[in-house]
Amino acid sequence: MASVENVVVLKTHSVAVLGAGYAGMSAAAELAAAGINVSVFEAGKVLGGRARKVGLEGKSLDNGQHLVIGAYTELLAMMSKVGVDCKTAFLRRPMELVVKPGFRLACPALPAPLHLALGLLFAQGLSWSERFALVRTIRAAQAAKWQLPQDMTVSNWLKEQRQPDALISRFWQPLTVAALNTPLALASAQVLLNVLRDSLGGVRAASDLLLPRLDFSALYPDTAARFIEQKGGHVYRSRRIRRVAKMAQGWQLNGESEIFDAVICALPPHGLSALQVSVPDILPLQVRNWIYQPIVTVYLQYDPAVKLAKPMLGLSDSLAQWVFDRGFTHQTDGLIAVVISAEGPHQALAQDELAQAVMLELHQRLSLPMDTLWYRVITEKRATFACTPDLQRPSNQTSAAGFWLAGDYTAGLAGKGDYPATLEGAVRSGVAAAQGVLKELN
Ligand SMILES: Cc1cc2nc3c(=O)[nH]c(=O)nc-3n(C[C@H](O)[C@H](O)[C@H](O)COP(=O)(O)OP(=O)(O)OC[C@H]3O[C@@H](n4cnc5c(N)ncnc54)[C@H](O)[C@@H]3O)c2cc1C
Repeated sequence: MASVENVVVLKTHSVAVLGAGYAGMSAAAELAAAGINVSVFEAGKVLGGRARKVGLEGKSLDNGQHLVIGAYTELLAMMSKVGVDCKTAFLRRPMELVVKPGFRLACPALPAPLHLALGLLFAQGLSWSERFALVRTIRAAQAAKWQLPQDMTVSNWLKEQRQPDALISRFWQPLTVAALNTPLALASAQVLLNVLRDSLGGVRAASDLLLPRLDFSALYPDTAARFIEQKGGHVYRSRRIRRVAKMAQGWQLNGESEIFDAVICALPPHGLSALQVSVPDILPLQVRNWIYQPIVTVYLQYDPAVKLAKPMLGLSDSLAQWVFDRGFTHQTDGLIAVVISAEGPHQALAQDELAQAVMLELHQRLSLPMDTLWYRVITEKRATFACTPDLQRPSNQTSAAGFWLAGDYTAGLAGKGDYPATLEGAVRSGVAAAQGVLKELN
């Protein structure tokens, strides 16, 4: 009976969500499921934000190749909640990191922590002393509950842990840059340990690699939009919000007539400064000084007969970092996506030069042909915030009742940012903001 009363009360409430990235769509879906009238306002034509479909001359690509891991429990839970069949949406494989030349770390299908112990012990391409150095460091981190007494850069932490150079270039470098999108000299060792805690240090399935079979708009936001609309909500595309005003009856957007009981602002951190809010000081000032890191994806369409030995391979000491064969996942045989995360020497190259340089690397290292049918380079200049030590991240809650923040950059309700900029962080923040709004409205 109490829950019916709650629903009746909530149905009279309306909430605006600004931004239809993974955070905004999760906030909106959570609210819609609770019976709130939700309206999502997205500036772009396509849903998904930094994880979205890019239609280029009839080709369906993503703005960047993404990877999901089994530890992304809230993302997977939200996807199921809105009706995505996660079994068919992903190609799921036990963790296997193959970094050419010569490194392979695979976690066998055994219960935790055996999977990790055996995986580390039998890591290929390392000398025994390098292998022991890796096992020692992971075991010590596990024993310390993945908590550092004080945060520091990954470079300094690896120095402190006396990790050999070959181990750094084959394991720590590709892993850190992929997980935090931040160079080792700038990256937070504590956030890296948080990721390891939930993946390698978690249950075996947490370290699984999930390769999406769909583009990133179809994977979740498009289905979430249908879910929201079925519950009576609205998802508006090409609707940029420039002004938010606090009125006596609630919140007004762009001076339009509709008034909302609450607003969840799920814009990217670099988008906040363009938003005018009538209540002073409710947008976090610290994000204005943040630095951002790029991610480049080079799509190379080879002859459809071209195939990699595995859906995903790493390369060390090269421009290309991770190489994905979308023939395994997207039924686009011969389409290879090469990911280059974080700042680096590739930024000095023009797009055509970069594509040629990457093609040459794949030719030399993976024996792929030197000619492609076409190629595209997509650069996201501000793909993620630089995940540096002790970054002060804003809470989802602001100083104004009824105005909440969501996004991969927020710290969560507990006030401590735990994760790097990821899809999982975005979804967690959206759900946390929605739950905060529900509590407040009740
Ligand atoms: C190339 C690339 C590769 C990545 N790879 C991975 C990966 O492998 N795994 C992983 O977990 N994460 C990865 N990430 C990070 C992940 O994509 C982000 O952390 C996540 O998508 C952020 O979601 P969000 O909702 O917080 O923000 P956003 O996705 O930025 O969403 C904000 C939304 O707000 C909209 N907006 C902006 N201004 C306005 C306005 N004024 N009015 C209305 N709407 C507005 C934007 O258009 C956007 O849709 C990658 C990111 C990039 C760019």
